[in-house]
Amino acid sequence: MSTQIHSGGCQCGAVRFRLSGRPGVSSVCYCRMCQKASAGHALALVSLGEASFEWTRGEPSWFQSSNAARRGFCQECGTPLAYDAPDGLALSVLAFDDPDAVPPTIAYGVEGKRVWCDAIPALPERGTMEDAGAVAFLKTLVNYQHPDHDTDAWPPEDRA
Ligand SMILES: [Zn+2]
Ligand SMILES: [Zn+2]
Repeated sequence: MSTQIHSGGCQCGAVRFRLSGRPGVSSVCYCRMCQKASAGHALALVSLGEASFEWTRGEPSWFQSSNAARRGFCQECGTPLAYDAPDGLALSVLAFDDPDAVPPTIAYGVEGKRVWCDAIPALPERGTMEDAGAVAFLKTLVNYQHPDHDTDAWPPEDRA
């Protein structure tokens, strides 16, 4: 049986991590603290479970969000990366290079769910390139986001 490897990191690439082995439970939390920590309507976290874990580039900064827990984020770009509580470390699912590899299986903090959350799947949908008027502008954009895989050096030489 091959060992599962999961890598991930922040938007700018200053902080990267790797898990080896099977991660624990993946969940979403709608509580007000997770809303603030993610600036999103929910925060998806996966516990380390049986996996071994290391920060492979840089380390997060931490905000002590309660007397029991602290939240890790990239000091350079602000990406929420981790939740560290007495029952162990959990990582942001959306920070994984493949977030679909650790899909949430339970929702917590549902009393904090915003009233519009459940309407999101029913909203009118548009693809990025469907806006014909924006296509010319979009073609001029240069993406500075770290790619969804490990890199030997980042940022690239020509941008450093
Ligand atoms: Zn970053
Ligand atoms: Zn929460």
